Amino acid sequence: MPIRILEPQVVARIAAGEVVERPASVVKELVENSLDAGSSQIAVEVSGGGVGLIRVTDNGAGIPAAELELAFQRYATSKISGLDDLESISSLGFRGEALPSIAAVSQVEIVTWAASDPTGNYLNLKEGVTVEQRSQGRAQGTTITVKNLLRNVPARLKFLKSPTTENGHIANVVSQYALAYPEVKFTLSSEGRAVLRTPGGGKVIDSISEIYGLEIAREMLELGQGENDWQGGPAPPSVRVSGMVSAPTVSRANRDYLSFFVNRRWINSRLLSWAVEEAYHGLLMTGRHPVAVVNISIPASEVDVNIHPTKTEVKFQNERLIFSAVQKAVRQALIAQAPVPGIEEVATVYGVKTQPRPSFWSPPETGYHPVSSSHQAGSYHHTGSSPLAQPTPSLSLPALRLLGQLAGSYIIAEGPEGLYLIDQHAAHERILFEQIERQSQRRLVEVQGMLEPATFEVTPQQDASLKACYLDLPEFGFSLEPFGERSYLVRAVPLLLHKKDWGAALRELLDALADGDAADWREKLMISFACHGAIKAGQALTDDEMREMLRQLEKAATPNSCPHGRPTMIRLSSAQLEKEFQRT
Ligand code: ADP
Ligand code: MG
Repeated sequence: MPIRILEPQVVARIAAGEVVERPASVVKELVENSLDAGSSQIAVEVSGGGVGLIRVTDNGAGIPAAELELAFQRYATSKISGLDDLESISSLGFRGEALPSIAAVSQVEIVTWAASDPTGNYLNLKEGVTVEQRSQGRAQGTTITVKNLLRNVPARLKFLKSPTTENGHIANVVSQYALAYPEVKFTLSSEGRAVLRTPGGGKVIDSISEIYGLEIAREMLELGQGENDWQGGPAPPSVRVSGMVSAPTVSRANRDYLSFFVNRRWINSRLLSWAVEEAYHGLLMTGRHPVAVVNISIPASEVDVNIHPTKTEVKFQNERLIFSAVQKAVRQALIAQAPVPGIEEVATVYGVKTQPRPSFWSPPETGYHPVSSSHQAGSYHHTGSSPLAQPTPSLSLPALRLLGQLAGSYIIAEGPEGLYLIDQHAAHERILFEQIERQSQRRLVEVQGMLEPATFEVTPQQDASLKACYLDLPEFGFSLEPFGERSYLVRAVPLLLHKKDWGAALRELLDALADGDAADWREKLMISFACHGAIKAGQALTDDEMREMLRQLEKAATPNSCPHGRPTMIRLSSAQLEKEFQRT
């Protein structure tokens, strides 16, 4: 075949293929046009997964009658006029390709009125060719109706997914623009049902709560609140990062909840996803991803948006600058506003975060008695030369030296008064009980935010108890809110019950409350939480874990019994041993 120039129709079809990948691409282009026209209201209506019908109605500037047919010519645009303009594009469109591309693969009807014209106008095109044009009244703005999309491109049509999937892509496009333009009132109806409606009041949080729901919206943190105290110097004045990101209490299993807008253009960017996720380093479990709406404003000359027909990818002049601006803005929001400790910060000794322990000589905490000074906490120097010379103080324990573990359940230790057999579960219960008491008194209970709120169902009886006390539970690290009938959403749990059966601990408390007097509910709560937080009998412990347990038990105010009143330890005095061995 000799070389020749392709027929315009063929060219149009090829070009259309680049812009119109699927129905959602059409929605994207039409919504972008509506935004460029300065609309404050944009309504999108689709059916048949967008193949049957796509209709976008706006109240923007409209297209003057004299330009209406021209708008459907290739490379016809009102948004740029020369080469210089390409260097600093401030509109979403600029290539003049969308309308002709869409028209080439569908049937298009447009009704538009620009204020400069006496009346509105109607234009009907089939496969890019005008079949009818006349005047028609309408309010200022534009309505474009696209039917039978890609029907004349079977190869492309074949690759479309189910209408449900295509509708999902369309909903995503409209959602993204609703996030980027909270001042615009968006509506989307799909197969006759209202899917999305944003108020258009200008607050991104309203769009977030409409799109992702109230629960996520509640956990969002604002970006760009304090650029000036960034470490490593002030933010470069040319880059401004705004938007919202989720607190580490919220996370998602994929990256679908990351939205990036550069000068209000929705873009995909691995670089920016990476920058955001870097900022969460150590705050989210691997495989979990945050929710983010990140707006980047930079001088138009700093970014090239003309690298792909769909304009969903951009090239930054200075990638590192953008990366670090985004990463710092997100990190700063997390540090300044997120209330919960990161997963990495959670020490694993007994599954409990160990407080920086007060030094031995520091003033005693409330309800907390130091051991007597002859018993140096942390190290045991006693040689055994005068084992009976120091009577054990009635409450506090002497320093103990670890000998080992027995039957996976008892710690064997030596003290100035002989041999100690310690029930590891009971002892740990005692330690935790006092820790909870101390922390709640000082309002320092350590909490672990949930990655996703958990639902907690209760019986009608438990419900009555829980209704009475759930507002007081944050004092002990639980944050719960009613969620439907006899159901609660749990957003945070005490750190000591994290990874434990906190539901069982709560239910046990509720049952205990239902049985008896609610006046001492705090005591009952501490008992239940300590019991469920404590290590179990039968669990092998390392020497370090056992030593740590002994150190903590030495500091307990009432080390000898567990909160239920059972003994935590049995002592065999040196005198008893001598007697048993008939040494005396
Ligand atoms: P581009 O957006 O790249 O300019 P399009 O093919 O999408 O190219 O649109 C061509 C032109 O039609 C636009 O430049 C604009 O002048 C006009 N236009 C398209 N849609 C609208 C609309 N909803 N409101 C007002 N003008 C519009
Ligand atoms: Mg356009």
